Amino acid sequence: MALPVIEIASGIFVHNGVQEEASAANQDAIANIGFIIGADGVAVIDPGGSFAEGRALRAAIRTRTDRRIRYVILTHVHPDHIFGAAAFREDHPDFVGHAKLPGALAQRGDYYLRRLQGALGDGASGTEVVSPTVLVAGRLELDLGGRRLTVRAHGPAHTDNDLTIFDENTRTLWLADLLFVERIPVIDGSLGGWLKQLDELTAIPADRAVPGHGPVSVLWPAAAEPERRYLAAVAHDTRAAIKAGIGIANAYREVANSERGHWLLFDEYHPRNVTASYKELEWE
Ligand SMILES: [Zn+2]
Repeated sequence: MALPVIEIASGIFVHNGVQEEASAANQDAIANIGFIIGADGVAVIDPGGSFAEGRALRAAIRTRTDRRIRYVILTHVHPDHIFGAAAFREDHPDFVGHAKLPGALAQRGDYYLRRLQGALGDGASGTEVVSPTVLVAGRLELDLGGRRLTVRAHGPAHTDNDLTIFDENTRTLWLADLLFVERIPVIDGSLGGWLKQLDELTAIPADRAVPGHGPVSVLWPAAAEPERRYLAAVAHDTRAAIKAGIGIANAYREVANSERGHWLLFDEYHPRNVTASYKELEWE
């Protein structure tokens, strides 16, 4: 069955992930994933959260074009974005990842796979850890035929292996999980680094952006503002908690309470965001 996708700009298709945790019912189809079609081929941007979702994405591509799937871009290590990669092996694409992605997969891949099997049961079958075959340390230009994509590797932010993709033709910036809209951002790289990356990313003259979670297309840079406000509040209040001698286990109670009510899954992720930020900021 073909995954439902929306054409957000000419030749750019996005599937809207549900705002839930991974489950057997949603097949881990919880992230925004999709593809871009050029005259000479197709680039997948995130193959999805399971082999089943990857198959469904591939079917969606094949209802629109029979051009070769040349690239499968793995935006970062999180399983909801990349565990569908094995569904594209038969296309022999370049699997494109951040230079630090192989290390992150070596550390976490098996754990993520067991966790997916626990959450999805039989629905996880066929899912494998697929390593990137092309690594990006700075920038990489991909030519899809009359369509140039710039893949950029970022410093530690959401994770330590985040990629973004810019499509020149439509001025679309695919941010993956460097941008969360509606769903609370997850800090798994560096809070300070993420704020710095946002300064650079919001300077890019894009007309629209694709967030990793939230609507399939948002205005740029306006859509970055809630995320920046949340991250800045976490940074400010965590520094204050450290200064006041509040311990790491209780700090989340004092941090960014003004943000509660603005974000989905706040209680599931906010405490661990504060714990991660505390560890980062206490050594400043
Ligand atoms: Zn992520």
